[in-house]
Amino acid sequence: MTASQVVALGIDVGSTTVKIVGVDGEGNLAWHWLEQAEPRVEDQVERFLVRARQVIRPAESGGTIPLVATGYGRRLVRQATRGVTEITCHAKGVYRELAHGGTLVDIGGQDSKVIGISPRGDVTDFSMNDKCAAGTGRFLENTANRLGVPLECMGQVALSALEEVSISSTCTVFAESEVISLIAHGVAVEPILKGLHRSLIRRVVAMIRTVGLAPPLMLSGGVVQNQAIARMLEEETGEKVVIPRYPQLMGAYGAALVALGMRN
Ligand code: ADP
Repeated sequence: MTASQVVALGIDVGSTTVKIVGVDGEGNLAWHWLEQAEPRVEDQVERFLVRARQVIRPAESGGTIPLVATGYGRRLVRQATRGVTEITCHAKGVYRELAHGGTLVDIGGQDSKVIGISPRGDVTDFSMNDKCAAGTGRFLENTANRLGVPLECMGQVALSALEEVSISSTCTVFAESEVISLIAHGVAVEPILKGLHRSLIRRVVAMIRTVGLAPPLMLSGGVVQNQAIARMLEEETGEKVVIPRYPQLMGAYGAALVALGMRN
């Protein structure tokens, strides 16, 4: 990646992380930066832009660089030329990266979405869950804390389980109580974690059914870094899962492509 080639920027102000992506004149991902989201969004965005200005040297292009904002906090980015929905931006980023349509599942820190993308890159339908933590990263994070397993290891630990415990609660708060009760009954961490992953995946599969599955199945969002997610989604759907190079950056990448004025 070469920051000096950046001619347009996209920023994704998510509920859990903030991401900024710079693209070159051909729409290639040339630079990025990611941080955990902070309560003072405006200050954090300003810091991101200061960092961008330092590395991408806009003076060479003779002026300011267009910036498009997306994500749940996009309206707070007053420096943006435009705000665009996450649905449009994720679809755009993934379509450009993978060069085909299909069904995209984005699992973020506090929301999840399923987006149908046509062979030409247009959004055909979508379903979004941002009202409840089930089916999001938060669902696993809360319970992993209880189990003393670091976030980065959850997937591996779940996949190492020889058995699986069924978790009946889809609600994060009740699932946490269920986990506490299982621990108290001496159940091992691995089967509990596998059961929690199963619960998350089934929730996502229910969303996929409402939109309809048009293969290939594609995954984006930070939770994809958990290896068990793709593996178990393949198990539950029988479909192979395709993952772009930078799954957590796809929203910001799509926003940068809009800033560049790129059609599909
Ligand atoms: P949002 O766009 O909603 O802010 P992201 O798509 O950036 O969220 O995803 C953030 C979530 O990704 C975190 O809350 C966490 O659950 C998950 N995550 C991040 N890194 C890892 C990792 N290494 N392993 C497993 N999960 C991860």
